Amino acid sequence: MNIKRIETYATKLVTLVTVVSEDGACGWGQTSTYNADITASVLHRQVAPHALGKPEDDFDGLCTRTIHRNLKFPWSYVCRALTGVETAMWDLKGKREEKSVCRLMGGSKETVPVYGSSMRRDITPKDEVERLSRLRHEKGFRAFKVRAGAEVGEDADQWPGRTKELAAAMRNAFPDDVCLLIDGNSAYTPSKAIAVGTMLQDNGFCHFEEPCPYWELEWTAEVAAALGMDVAGGEQDNDLAQWKRMIGMHAVDIVQPDVCYIGGITRTLEVARMAADRNMRCIPHSANLSMVTLFTIHVLGAIPNAGPYLEYSIEPAPWTREFYNPVPEVHDGVVDVPEGPGWGVDISKDWLQNTQFQASDL
Ligand SMILES: [Mg+2]
Repeated sequence: MNIKRIETYATKLVTLVTVVSEDGACGWGQTSTYNADITASVLHRQVAPHALGKPEDDFDGLCTRTIHRNLKFPWSYVCRALTGVETAMWDLKGKREEKSVCRLMGGSKETVPVYGSSMRRDITPKDEVERLSRLRHEKGFRAFKVRAGAEVGEDADQWPGRTKELAAAMRNAFPDDVCLLIDGNSAYTPSKAIAVGTMLQDNGFCHFEEPCPYWELEWTAEVAAALGMDVAGGEQDNDLAQWKRMIGMHAVDIVQPDVCYIGGITRTLEVARMAADRNMRCIPHSANLSMVTLFTIHVLGAIPNAGPYLEYSIEPAPWTREFYNPVPEVHDGVVDVPEGPGWGVDISKDWLQNTQFQASDL
């Protein structure tokens, strides 16, 4: 069956996509979040022409055509838009075969452990530790990620001494069986990253994410080689050739493609496979509770080199909970892998009413 129609329901924060096949069957997907109304326009202009009239399950073909035919528009918006169509095609395939996307990918896990992911740098170490401790007791989290330095900070801290104070407070607050992760968001030069990383290791942290500007692969490789803890990265990277270089030079120990930035499930699986070939683990980036976390649960349920934890945002963001259900909830430190066909969720018809609608037809 070929794709005959693609619809988008856009807001500035998120765009939902439905792909309709010749017989009227449809699947739902989502573009990447933020500036998603712009992404919807890119989808109709630069992705839909490569999907309409083509087989509804030709994932590789769609990805290749979209990237090749957008030669002069590399990566960001084209990949964000591609994700919307590609993830809707996976939902459609799952509904046809009455299997979850996880099962379609060969997965069999029923639950995935999570880490509670803080997005805040404006919070004091004391307040951060208090809210994470509360979540540990309420939801059973056994791992947390906090924030180091300042975002693209050129070695600056958010305020002087914050990262060191936070690291010590985290270690004091939690027993050894709680894993401590931290994210630099491109904060440091290599020498500073190694010094901060050594301090973090001394406080029992196991995972140092994006210590250096993410595009400086050699810097990140230098840090990964110097530290005993895992260095992780790659959330912004959406060029598979860059991924090949990153993995080949072992710039990171853990790869973190973002399903929605990279262009969907197929390209995420390709990064996971390249990493598996080098005995590296994969923990995709999933920093909000829109469908990116849902997609990532299905991926982690299926790939053989899944890292130990799903990234689960602890920040309240009501808009991420309004358009599909059920939203994955944490219990006993895990989330369930949805069992229903496709993504295993329903789209809110009410939410669709208040969006900007566009359609492309064959
Ligand atoms: Mg990150």
